[in-house]
Amino acid sequence: MNKTIFEKIILREIPANIHFEDQDVIVIDDINPTAPIHLLIIPKKRIETLNDLTDDDTNLIGKLFQVAKEMAKKLNIDESGYRTIFNCNNDGGQTVYHIHLHLIGGRLLNWPPG
Ligand code: AMP
Repeated sequence: MNKTIFEKIILREIPANIHFEDQDVIVIDDINPTAPIHLLIIPKKRIETLNDLTDDDTNLIGKLFQVAKEMAKKLNIDESGYRTIFNCNNDGGQTVYHIHLHLIGGRLLNWPPG
């Protein structure tokens, strides 16, 4: 299977601005930010879409949100507010088939999204 763009970033084959990394996750700036803060919280394990989650992934998904919370605090948007999003498949707007949690903030976000 070809590597995803995020696997290439994890392997340092292509550059990214890395905010945090441990054995399970990497956090990078989105290359095309939609707000002043737009991070991607990416599990190192490749899971193509949310539809592919198994019971074994429950802790990992929880960890992505724990990391999102910590990053929001670190970047000082925890009190002003932020949004976390998983896009799934075509209608959900997914373009990279390696799940990732968007963390978006730093401005007032519209609702509902388009
Ligand atoms: P999604 O549309 O939910 O699959 O999100 C994929 C996100 O990855 C988009 O917001 C892209 O801007 C972002 N992206 C694509 N390539 C890169 C890259 N090389 N470095 C950082 N972010 C990227």
